Amino acid sequence: NPRMLQFKLVLLGESAVGKSSLVLRFVKDQFDDYRESTIGAAFLTQTVSLDPQTTVKFEIWDTAGQERYKSLAPMYYRNANCAVVVYDITQPSSLDKAKAWIRELQRQADPNIIIALAGNKADLASTRRAIPTEEAEKYAAEENLLFLETSAKNSLNVSELFTMIARKLPLE
Ligand code: GDP
Ligand code: MG
Repeated sequence: NPRMLQFKLVLLGESAVGKSSLVLRFVKDQFDDYRESTIGAAFLTQTVSLDPQTTVKFEIWDTAGQERYKSLAPMYYRNANCAVVVYDITQPSSLDKAKAWIRELQRQADPNIIIALAGNKADLASTRRAIPTEEAEKYAAEENLLFLETSAKNSLNVSELFTMIARKLPLE
């Protein structure tokens, strides 16, 4: 029997790392160099088909303002089944910020939450990379996180990221 399973996904990370752009790429397959920043939280849905019988529907909460109003964040990650924590491979401080979010999720979110770390703006790797892939990969392995480098701009690994998460969700 075909089935559609629904899960709540939240995006977290420093401002300007590309959270909204990743969602826009995943949901509408678009990219905008001059996007207006998100105000509050935006809610979008997208499905991933895992096999002819199984569709995962993501309810995506794209947050903004959590950088300044940190007390708002628990509202977004409460009841979340999965989280994508994004950093920018050209900005070392954004990985520190991502690690802080991951620690907070590990302490405060649902203990079964699936956390993916995404090193975004990978299209800039050849000219502006500041964080080696291996460094983030090692950290992700130690913390038991999914990890991919992505580009919302050229689509690299964007659908792969969400499919990887879908495959880790409890499908029964
Ligand atoms: P957010 O604040 O984390 O939601 O970040 P945005 O999605 O608003 O993106 C911030 C800026 O980074 C915008 O100018 C985007 O066009 C740009 N951006 C987002 N993703 C990428 C990417 O993968 N590659 C490049 N080169 N720029 C990106
Ligand atoms: Mg945004």
